[in-house]
Amino acid sequence: MLKFIRRFWIVVLLLITACSPVAPITSTPAPTAVVDDLAQYKPALITADQNDLAQLDHPTRYNLTLQYDPATPTLTGVEDVRFFNHQSAPLNEIYFRLFANYPDSGGKISVSHLSVDGAAASATLETQNTALRVGLSQPLAPRAEADLHLDFVVTVPRDSTGHYADFTATDSVTTMPTVYPLIPAYDSQGWHTELPPAYGDLVYADASLYAVTMTVPTTMTVIASGTTTRKDDNNNGTTTWHIVGAPMRDFDLNVSAQLQKTSATLGETTVNSWYDPADADAGKSALQFATDALRIFQNNFGTYPYRKFDVVETPTTAGGIEYPTLVVVARSLYRDPRNRQYFEFATAHEVSHQWWYGMVGDDQVNQPWVDEALAQYSALIYEEDLYGKDAAHQVMRNNFIGLYNRAKNAGQDMPVNLPVAAYDEATYGAIVYGKGPLFYDAIRTKMGDALFFKFLQTYFQRYRYKIATSDDILKTAEDVCNCSLQNEYQEWILSPQK
Ligand SMILES: [Zn+2]
Repeated sequence: MLKFIRRFWIVVLLLITACSPVAPITSTPAPTAVVDDLAQYKPALITADQNDLAQLDHPTRYNLTLQYDPATPTLTGVEDVRFFNHQSAPLNEIYFRLFANYPDSGGKISVSHLSVDGAAASATLETQNTALRVGLSQPLAPRAEADLHLDFVVTVPRDSTGHYADFTATDSVTTMPTVYPLIPAYDSQGWHTELPPAYGDLVYADASLYAVTMTVPTTMTVIASGTTTRKDDNNNGTTTWHIVGAPMRDFDLNVSAQLQKTSATLGETTVNSWYDPADADAGKSALQFATDALRIFQNNFGTYPYRKFDVVETPTTAGGIEYPTLVVVARSLYRDPRNRQYFEFATAHEVSHQWWYGMVGDDQVNQPWVDEALAQYSALIYEEDLYGKDAAHQVMRNNFIGLYNRAKNAGQDMPVNLPVAAYDEATYGAIVYGKGPLFYDAIRTKMGDALFFKFLQTYFQRYRYKIATSDDILKTAEDVCNCSLQNEYQEWILSPQK
């Protein structure tokens, strides 16, 4: 995410903490219906990258059957998930995140009819109702899988300003980020059910496979993560959209009867810009920014493998927010010509998250710099590619150095590699978004351009569809340059130590 504070190009990212006992959720057995066929996901990817699917080790599979009713407004869903235990120890429980229950979102999700392998299961809510703990009657053995089934109903808040207005039903567009139950990452710390402050991103999850049907009034368009493969008119005023997406950590969903579209192609990828009819010029600019950014990042990092990319104008009060194959950018940036530079920078920042967060995953709650500092530096690479080194230096001075120096001069310098919750909102922006990218500038100066860009390509290849950590960034850079970067890492990432 990217948060804009108007006076400067102050970029701060956004997003969520908690634990309360909750009544058990009663359930009845229900059939599971996960289709065992990788072929169905291939339309999500360009031809050259469709074999990526076979290289994934038993990714989680989500089958979602969704229905949106704009009158209420509610999203009703049936979810079937096949989950594989990648750990060396048996699991006694599986968690889902229920981010629609985030405390200030204004929205709500309730879950029912939960079953595991066809047998009724019970669950308890934790972490301010944002984590659902499903107890397993039999521990799930290492390298065994379980089929989970549940029904859910999401109440979508109208004109909500909570949580950067990222989850809201408005006249122009309804935005529903990660509102279905999502299985979080399980790593050496166990299940991740933390809730960061509102200015941090929420999702820490593994790359998964999605097959989704979404039924909406025929007058509405579905703008979602993944690729639409078919639309069926139900002859009752509704249309069912069939969507596949893979490998993706998350599934973002928007519906609109108002947004218009302009498109371009980049190889086999279709790039769509969705904008309010009043913002047609800015919508065309967003398409240009996104297409240029995808091209520049492909050239510098590695292939964008998906068949589709969307940039969507929404009422969010963040500068922009990233999702798989889709980013949203704030309407306020479409409508303020004085902020055109920031509109472009923010769009490039969000597009780069397809590589950093989307394909190379990270713990956005506990190590947010892993994707955010590199997204900032990637936006600088975009500026340099299109407008030259002088323009890029100006961006670095204004955006990164100025932002960081104001915090440092105020006695608020901190290490970069801390959890979102270790910072307040302003310091989070200054340290992670201002100081963090200066680490990349320092190691680029030391390594030289050729090795620096080789490092970025190697880092992308090593961790594509996996999870990367702070240590992985440092190790990969040192491997590529065959040099020590401990001084740069100490100065820019670990200092000042208390
Ligand atoms: Zn970001």
